[in-house]
Amino acid sequence: MAITRRSLLQMIAGTSGALLAGRTFGNSNHSGPRAGTVDWTQLQNNVKGRVVVRGRADYESDRHTMAWNAVKPERFPDAIVHVASENDVSEAIRFARRHKLKVAIRGGGHNWHNAALRQGGVLLDLSRLNQLQVDVEQRKAVVQPGVTGAAFIANLAPHWLAFPVGHCPNVGLSGFLLNGGLGWNYGNWGPSCASIEALDIVDARGELIRADQHRNADLLWAARGAGPGFFGVVTRFHLKVFPLPRAILRSSLVYPIEDFDKVAAWLPEIARSVPAELMFSFYNREIEIQAWAFADTVADARNALQALETEPAGLHARSKHLNRESSVDEVFGAVNENSGPGPRYAGDGVWSNASSQDLLHKVRDSILAAPSDSSWVEFHLPQVQVRPQLPDMAFSVFASIHVGVYSNWNDAEHDAANRAWVRSTIASLEPLKVGYYVGESDLTVAANRAQQCFSPSAWGKLIELKRKYDPHNVFFSYLQHP
Ligand SMILES: Cc1cc2nc3c(=O)[nH]c(=O)nc-3n(C[C@H](O)[C@H](O)[C@H](O)COP(=O)(O)OP(=O)(O)OC[C@H]3O[C@@H](n4cnc5c(N)ncnc54)[C@H](O)[C@@H]3O)c2cc1C
Repeated sequence: MAITRRSLLQMIAGTSGALLAGRTFGNSNHSGPRAGTVDWTQLQNNVKGRVVVRGRADYESDRHTMAWNAVKPERFPDAIVHVASENDVSEAIRFARRHKLKVAIRGGGHNWHNAALRQGGVLLDLSRLNQLQVDVEQRKAVVQPGVTGAAFIANLAPHWLAFPVGHCPNVGLSGFLLNGGLGWNYGNWGPSCASIEALDIVDARGELIRADQHRNADLLWAARGAGPGFFGVVTRFHLKVFPLPRAILRSSLVYPIEDFDKVAAWLPEIARSVPAELMFSFYNREIEIQAWAFADTVADARNALQALETEPAGLHARSKHLNRESSVDEVFGAVNENSGPGPRYAGDGVWSNASSQDLLHKVRDSILAAPSDSSWVEFHLPQVQVRPQLPDMAFSVFASIHVGVYSNWNDAEHDAANRAWVRSTIASLEPLKVGYYVGESDLTVAANRAQQCFSPSAWGKLIELKRKYDPHNVFFSYLQHP
């Protein structure tokens, strides 16, 4: 099913939303913890990977490495299994079931809100499953959960192939793909999850199964967007990949915050006249307009960016780079600076079909009052040129602009101020929102936040599939859900 703006609005407005409002994922069958009575050596003897049990001297440092965000939640798995094979995944799930322990999953650990770290249960760290194969002729690839966007592109680009990997190259592909995956050039290539053709999954019984269009097709449907509520452990993603565009050009313009009103007035015109991937970033001191054109020829790419060459009267960029030919490394590593570990982060976002100017007026005061120079609001416009025929999939809420609100800082004493800033900024956008993206949204805000990441019918189907594939609720679900 192609998702159009109209069908999206119909889905959001649909009455079934109210009927599903009280329905959440699963029950608490595997509620543990009975960890104190568990003989973990049995598990360690049956898996090749290391098992780190809570209480061991190295547990806390190990737990910290499971989350990229330096803000670590007060949630403590009973044990962390650094799985070394698909068989380890099966063994760990069977062990957890026998002991009525729940199972949490970690790919690259980049979830903003540390979804992988849950209270009690067994955390499966998949980062060592990092095989990657590319079939150049068929334009297909198979990636394991430990592969990052950077590693994937490094293996594709020499063959003139590419994939809509995340905008920060170190982000793990696995959670990113399950979320939907708003990657580079997704306006043309579609959300990354639409390029998942099949998956190898260890299910809640500990069995390795295949999901594709012919086998367990409903699991494929769910894996394309269910995000951190997915009910199985994906050990391999079978992906379609794309020809690398021959020309990638970037333009960027930076303005002082004093030009706020003039820039705000120009943005809708840019959105109309620049058929390229757009990112508008607003800090408390400056505004940056960036555009990337992916095209077959330099002339086509230059044409797409042309409207940025003429600024409106009275606007003069403090820094301006137009039509810069960019290498694969420059583009796919361009927004790299935020992906390193260390700082404390908070983030959230909304989808909206409102104009950039209207959105900006809603967040104007917040931007000016941002708690640090590293707090920012980002409008991301994929600028769909040829909307791909998206399959029917769990990823069902989509709009013309994704507004991300982010903050990073160093001291724990500033946690509350930064979190409050992100929450209040998002709250000011509520009247203009269409829904949320499960990959960026702060699901801890409210119990119904996860639900608002999906169309009413997709949410209902996810609940049914969770019951079908995980009837005993072995896997943890969305944060705030049992
Ligand atoms: C700096 C930064 C930049 C980002 N940029 C983008 C971007 O450009 N576009 C975008 O769409 N998103 C982006 N994100 C969000 C990103 O999609 C999520 O953070 C995503 O979860 C990262 O994947 P991961 O494997 O590291 O997730 P993890 O934190 O490891 O996992 C999160 C959850 O996903 C589920 N999961 C992960 N792997 C598996 C698996 N193999 N099987 C079953 N369930 C699994 C589990 O429930 C897990 O708890 C960004 C995040 C950060 C921090």
